[in-house]
Amino acid sequence: MSYEESLLKPQGRVLSTLESDGSRRWIYPRVAKGRFWHARRIVAYTLIGIFAVIPYIPINKQGDPLILIDLLNRKLHLLGFTFLPTDTVLLALLMVSMILSVFFVTALLGRVWCGWACPQTVYMEYVYRPIERLLTGKAGQGGEPRKKVPGWRYVLMYGVFLIVSLHLANTGLAYFVPYRELHTWITSPPWHHPIGFIAVIIVTAWMMWDFAYWREQMCIIGCPYGRFQSVLLDRNSLIISYDRARGEPRGKKKRLSLPVANGKSSGDCVDCHLCASVCPTGIDIREGLQIECIACAQCIDACDSVMDKLGLPRGLIRYSSQARISGEKQRIIRPRVVIYGLILVILLSLMVTTLIMMKPFDLMVARGRGVPFVIDPNGQVVNTWILKITNRSQDHQRLQVRLQDPENIRIETTDSAIRLAPGEVIDEPVRIIADRRLFQNGHYRAVIQVRDEKGNTREKTVLLLGPYGGHAHAVSQ
Ligand code: SF4
Ligand code: SF4
Repeated sequence: MSYEESLLKPQGRVLSTLESDGSRRWIYPRVAKGRFWHARRIVAYTLIGIFAVIPYIPINKQGDPLILIDLLNRKLHLLGFTFLPTDTVLLALLMVSMILSVFFVTALLGRVWCGWACPQTVYMEYVYRPIERLLTGKAGQGGEPRKKVPGWRYVLMYGVFLIVSLHLANTGLAYFVPYRELHTWITSPPWHHPIGFIAVIIVTAWMMWDFAYWREQMCIIGCPYGRFQSVLLDRNSLIISYDRARGEPRGKKKRLSLPVANGKSSGDCVDCHLCASVCPTGIDIREGLQIECIACAQCIDACDSVMDKLGLPRGLIRYSSQARISGEKQRIIRPRVVIYGLILVILLSLMVTTLIMMKPFDLMVARGRGVPFVIDPNGQVVNTWILKITNRSQDHQRLQVRLQDPENIRIETTDSAIRLAPGEVIDEPVRIIADRRLFQNGHYRAVIQVRDEKGNTREKTVLLLGPYGGHAHAVSQ
């Protein structure tokens, strides 16, 4: 027996996209142009339009776009708010709220994101596949072209894919580079901005690989969200299901009211396989809920068209839940939905409150470099500190710095007022000069206050260092 013969043979396909010998099973799904396909198409093109314009819509006086992940300046602009790396609480609240929203929506509506709004599905099903069908004429008969496709059509198809991918890469880059800068990049030679150029090339190559080759494998193997489905869904979550009780026993020659042999009444499924041939992930929904199902509703549209032809009611495959399809009562309000919802409301309230209470400027302090303190010619103790001030507002700011307890201690800045442009961050060195008698134990706590013209204040307590036993020393002077 040869080595190959000694290996165990799989009983069937392990994955919907793999043949039993391990080779790729290419999927060219047919299109079922039903009500869900039309609704999804409207959603898809709306989302594509929104995705393309969001980075170019200014939302405030500074012209910050609706969304910009400004990596160069380490800022996140989101719906008019600017998040800085120091906004750890806000950023943490934002991240946790986003993750919890996914949990909440999935518990209620299942994989509605995957089927209706995920960029992978939207671009694959409504941009790349239509281009492919247009140029190669494949109707998706199990991957077999209807007739031999001339090579130039493939060349043209990949050329169009490349143009679309380039456009997508540039649009994607606009989420990371301010659009004015991006415009300069696009209109100037690549060697003026090599990093941006390389980024576009890498993203374009990745788009080509994903949409021309990898395709449904992203949903089945690559996407972490898809992997989490088994824990995020429960029996009452919205899923796409085949009504086994109504459909079985299935058979090719069944028609309405025709009894089946052995006295069993016929099921409504005529075993036409249309639901499987339209599935973009290559599964047969009649085998039950599967992790590969992205809830695109194509099988519903396909089966509805069959039912219409047979004169049977629609909905043999439909949006339902495991509970409802098994004849149990559907429960929308359930512990996990309530808990996710409550936590989400709390997190969002915290976020909104924090944003509302946010001051127009931030203050951070750091001890100046060099010796901890010096004694000046007048015998006073001088500490140096750096004030890191961030102007979060869209206006120019004029700030005053003072100490809360001005007796025997004063603060000196380079100018009488600190001026900041909108969004500007500065490091302002200050000197705090204190009477040495304040340093009983070698240190003294002072409060630095920064105030704007509207009376908004930020305060920081700093620990000043000085000679130990300052009072006794001063008396001896
Ligand atoms: S499309 Fe409907 S009738 Fe045809 S195989 Fe699928 S479930 Fe059965
Ligand atoms: S089983 Fe139906 S809903 Fe699920 S991915 Fe396939 S066609 Fe879409």
